[in-house]
Amino acid sequence: AKSDPDGSYRFYDPNIQDSRAERRALEEALRSALDKREFELFYQPILDLGTNRMWGCEALVRWKHATKGMIPPLQFIPTAEESGLIGPIGDWILEEACATAMTWNLPLKVAVNLSPVQFKRRDVYASVTKALTLSGLPAQRLVLEITESVKLTEEATASLRRLKTLGVGISLDDFGTGYASMSYLRSFPFDKIKIDQSFVRGMMESSGSRAIIKATIGLANDLRMSTTAEGVETQEQLNALRVAGASQAQGYLIAKPMPREALEAFMTEIQNP
Ligand code: C2E
Ligand code: CA
Ligand code: CA
Ligand code: CA
Repeated sequence: AKSDPDGSYRFYDPNIQDSRAERRALEEALRSALDKREFELFYQPILDLGTNRMWGCEALVRWKHATKGMIPPLQFIPTAEESGLIGPIGDWILEEACATAMTWNLPLKVAVNLSPVQFKRRDVYASVTKALTLSGLPAQRLVLEITESVKLTEEATASLRRLKTLGVGISLDDFGTGYASMSYLRSFPFDKIKIDQSFVRGMMESSGSRAIIKATIGLANDLRMSTTAEGVETQEQLNALRVAGASQAQGYLIAKPMPREALEAFMTEIQNP
């Protein structure tokens, strides 16, 4: 494998055409990370704008690398998808998130990201129900976030429908960034639309972003779906989203993603302010 000056392999970089050997090195490292339990889930609180209380948390995976420190998901999820390792890694994420949510003092929701590739590698219905059974978490507390990156197959849609019947919530993530947002909405009765942070980021300056947010919320209302605005960083944005009628807000203004121990402290604090 081609090495960095420090002798280690390079991580996935979308700008570089990785050599096959480099990719294999990262795959090998991911496999061993799974064995050594080097993955960790962070949790980002989501605020319910109706009640002004916590709605739940989104689980976000990190790789706690022995020498490289905390590696963000965008640097290894693509390779995990290409190599098929997203199967076992995704199963671990589901089981860990459900087990953690089960330890919370409040019956908050936990939102888990599902890679579209997981459907090719796993019987997602079986993986999710296993995580629920192992943890004892009620299905109503689990929400799955699906991005609009890949066309949902008949099989994937069928799995999601069965999970929905159990009470699991299904969200359409990063809404508006793909090129098939509308056909996605038509292909499955999602419970929630997550408004991508790129629209929220520009909303105070750009009337175009505001128009898209407003239209998305209107569309979601008509389709009986709720909305979460992502990437909320300022009070101004939060106020405007409230006025626009978003159901929930998520972003650094409310809280950054944090380890489960920090989240416990955060929840205790908001319960006893
Ligand atoms: P996402 O699902 O859209 O997750 C939201 C991302 O936005 C997270 O980045 C979060 O840390 C970040 N974020 C939250 N609030 C703010 C804010 O106010 N400002 C800014 N600038 N950023 C904010 P993260 O954790 O690096 O995750 C990136 C992406 O990696 C996720 O995007 C998701 O697509 C993927 N990912 C993360 N965890 C998982 C996982 O467990 N499984 C799968 N399949 N994908 C995951
Ligand atoms: Ca997400
Ligand atoms: Ca998102
Ligand atoms: Ca995203």
